[in-house]
Amino acid sequence: MGIATVNPTTGELIKEFDALTDTELDAKVGLASSQFSDYCRTPMPQRSRWLHQAATHLEQAKQQYAELLTLEMGKPIKAAIAEVEKCALVCRYYADHAPSFLVDVPVHTDASTSFIRYQPLGVILAVMPWNFPFWQVFRFAAPALMAGNVGLLKHASNVPQSALAIAEVFAKAGFPAGAFQTLLIGADRVAGLMGDERIAAATLTGSEPAGASLAMAAGKHIKKVVLELGGSDPFIVMPSADLDAAVSTAVTARMLNNGQSCIAAKRFIVADAIADEFTRRLIERYKALKIGDPMQPDTDIGPLATPQILQDLDRQVKTSIEQGATLLIGGDPRSTSSTLSEAHRSGNFYPPTVLSDIPKGSLAEYDEFFGPVALLFRVADISAAIARANDSPFGLGSSAWTQDAQERDRFIAELDAGSVFINGMVKSDPRLPFGGIKRSGYGRELGKEGLYEFVNVKTVWVK
Ligand code: NAP
Repeated sequence: MGIATVNPTTGELIKEFDALTDTELDAKVGLASSQFSDYCRTPMPQRSRWLHQAATHLEQAKQQYAELLTLEMGKPIKAAIAEVEKCALVCRYYADHAPSFLVDVPVHTDASTSFIRYQPLGVILAVMPWNFPFWQVFRFAAPALMAGNVGLLKHASNVPQSALAIAEVFAKAGFPAGAFQTLLIGADRVAGLMGDERIAAATLTGSEPAGASLAMAAGKHIKKVVLELGGSDPFIVMPSADLDAAVSTAVTARMLNNGQSCIAAKRFIVADAIADEFTRRLIERYKALKIGDPMQPDTDIGPLATPQILQDLDRQVKTSIEQGATLLIGGDPRSTSSTLSEAHRSGNFYPPTVLSDIPKGSLAEYDEFFGPVALLFRVADISAAIARANDSPFGLGSSAWTQDAQERDRFIAELDAGSVFINGMVKSDPRLPFGGIKRSGYGRELGKEGLYEFVNVKTVWVK
């Protein structure tokens, strides 16, 4: 399948798109490049006004955009509405705060005046995934546009209508033509774009192979890249934790977005003393989740975004069981058909699944499971919990549940991850930096740090 909307709930092909020709692509890059020289000079209050207008438009049209997200990638409609609202929030955050983040910073030196000035880099290419089709793009675009950069979006091939809708949001908000454009192209055109001298830098949110491929192309041309890649976040529960709160957050943290979130809790690392009780309650809650049509407001779990994701997850679970893991619930995509209507039986549905007794060296120990599958690990104490959590190629987020201050301090100090949440679920927040270490990527989005990724931090020294 090329660039197309295929409804994951029914398998129906809704709309196909032709990829841009080389000439069309060249014209869009040319427009971005020529717009940059004007746009970077627009006064900051003007950029703020446009971004506030984008937020207002998102809020007004949230139902329409949310339905598009659900149609293209299957997230429950209530989550899709929340996603569009969060995009408005990130636009308002940067519209209000970027001006103060970008003012000159005086530094006392041997010069008569010396200071730091933040200046935009130019045209930034954003390669984005389908799982949060609006949010991933807005969290890049809001700071980039406030800094005076212009954006080119290469979105995932299964969410073309969302990609076009995002460009429409910025156009309706009043941003000039070329400040933000969508490129309908396949992944095979990205490396070539990195060689285009009109493109200054890139950001990619997606899988490790995609990140590595972009980083190689960027390295060849000495261009800055931010990579937000996969994760297998630990969710650690200690005996002193508020178990009710931990269990109920464990449901959301794993099942949000039908389990397809980079910062979903994927490995549940639970102290022996409470592991049986935690598991019993978790299973009870997972069993109560409603699987079905994501357009219905009471649906908890919709389909996975594509048949390929369903196949990959099914293979991972089956292989883990062959390797010795114990299946506690779920594990069979066919089991969902009894609860689905006839029209939805060809959708990509996968049931909430729990695997425990995961053997050393097995797939479930180290792979990212991108769907509603919880992996349970029992540990004797906090040292074993931290060792278990850190034994992963990834380092995106981490969540630890404890009422003990010493344990809390150890988790904060010793968990190898881009974020540590104590007694809460890992989530992104415009006010806080977001990103990973190890194979989860490098660089940061959001907060002040995200804004500074795509600026020239210019040193000014005047005698
Ligand atoms: P993916 O296949 O890597 O796709 C992501 C984007 O990269 C798409 O636009 C895709 O285009 C493009 N792409 C794929 N191969 C490429 C290549 N060789 N060169 C350049 N671009 C390429 O990712 P996915 O499997 O759809 O998304 C799930 C992954 O993203 C998971 O690992 C998840 O954890 C990660 N993720 C990370 C974050 C984070 O913030 N850290 C957030 C969300 C998701 P096509 O669609 O045209 O192939």
